[in-house]
Amino acid sequence: MREFGYRRASDVQGAVALLAADPRARLLGGGTNLVDLMKTGVERPALLIDVQDLPLDRIEVTPDGGLHIGATVTNSDLAADPEVRRRYPALAQAVLSGASGQLRNMATVGGNLLQRTRCGYFTDPAAACNKRVPGSGCPAIGGEHHNHAILGASAHCVAVHPSDMGVALAAFDAVVGYETADGPGELPLAEFYLPVGRTPHLETALPSGALITGLRLPPAPVAAVSRYRKVRERASFAFAIGSLAAALDVHDGTVREVRLAFGAVASRPWRARTAERALTGGPASAEAFAAAADAELAAAEVLPHNGYKVTLLRNLVVALLTELTELTEEAAR
Ligand SMILES: Cc1cc2nc3c(=O)[nH]c(=O)nc-3n(C[C@H](O)[C@H](O)[C@H](O)COP(=O)(O)OP(=O)(O)OC[C@H]3O[C@@H](n4cnc5c(N)ncnc54)[C@H](O)[C@@H]3O)c2cc1C
Ligand code: SF4
Repeated sequence: MREFGYRRASDVQGAVALLAADPRARLLGGGTNLVDLMKTGVERPALLIDVQDLPLDRIEVTPDGGLHIGATVTNSDLAADPEVRRRYPALAQAVLSGASGQLRNMATVGGNLLQRTRCGYFTDPAAACNKRVPGSGCPAIGGEHHNHAILGASAHCVAVHPSDMGVALAAFDAVVGYETADGPGELPLAEFYLPVGRTPHLETALPSGALITGLRLPPAPVAAVSRYRKVRERASFAFAIGSLAAALDVHDGTVREVRLAFGAVASRPWRARTAERALTGGPASAEAFAAAADAELAAAEVLPHNGYKVTLLRNLVVALLTELTELTEEAAR
């Protein structure tokens, strides 16, 4: 590992000032992604600004009935929080499905949003990769891509975003709050991750020098009946090959409201708005769930080794929405 400086910030303004003073500085959350990438030379910051002591470690119910989650809240604390579990159970489940207990104790909300892709060419500095070195090429398209994107990718990059937490946050319309030397700002999660296009190295719409301060989750009564389902290649401690956050409100067999977000299919958590529109106001039946999934997945562009994800996501939608329908019916009895 190359030499680097280390500073521990005690307030947000101080951290932002340190960041603005050196374009080669990076913020350090739990370090579970950044330090790994520094070891292999993919990341080469000159200075790490540790955010652990910042007063951003609270989860609070907002006056409108939503939640505010600080950026330095650990994944473990987020998943264990009683208000998160009661109001947005899919979020707690998504976080618990990721990594291991030890990693979740270190990993933070801010760092989870900005964790980098697990594409093997990206993490190998000896390989070409447009995301790491713009214009160098994308070996994944003609090579190893069985876990890569089927939606919203481009000829320049087909990597997926690895976060489980982000998938549930997308379903619940989270808004990311940040601070820069010029003042605070907010970005809805739907606009936070940039489309891949020709510039896969530009991943988010965060202004340069921004420190994520936290997340705002608007009130969403439908989220109380929500679940996260993750498919992975081994039983634990693995990234998703496909995942789904779903919330459903059914009354007398009719879908009143539904939220659906897919994970491990695109460069960002994929809110399945086409499927949501197809389902709203219609019957809560397995046939309708399958048709809605097909409508969403009609946009899929598959590579030779990742076409299985279309079937996988379709089956996840049918299974999870059927389960949520049964849950609602049981609760009504
Ligand atoms: C073996 C292993 C398995 C894993 N499995 C999963 C999994 O199944 N699902 C999953 O979702 N994740 C998984 N993870 C990823 C893990 O969740 C992330 O590494 C973690 O969430 C990153 O958080 P962190 O606080 O450690 O970030 P760091 O490593 O500290 O930082 C990551 C990035 O975020 C930036 N950053 C950190 N905090 C802020 C802030 N407040 N404002 C602005 N920028 C900031 C850093 O500068 C860096 O660029 C796994 C990780 C490992 C090592
Ligand atoms: S898929 Fe993206 S991250 Fe992976 S090699 Fe291609 S450009 Fe790099």
